[in-house]
Amino acid sequence: MSATTATGQAQPIETSDKTVACNGGGGALGHPLTYYTFGDKKQIDCRYCGQVFVKK
Ligand SMILES: [Zn+2]
Repeated sequence: MSATTATGQAQPIETSDKTVACNGGGGALGHPLTYYTFGDKKQIDCRYCGQVFVKK
């Protein structure tokens, strides 16, 4: 079982890429693969699952 709490907060993912893709982990808990571009932002929150991506 996962140690994720009921708040749904996931660990931020650090990346040096300009674009990230999230599918919520796939499977029953996933969502359609969605791409996000950092642009001038340092952080992206997935609009579906709330996964946080932080630019290195
Ligand atoms: Zn997501």
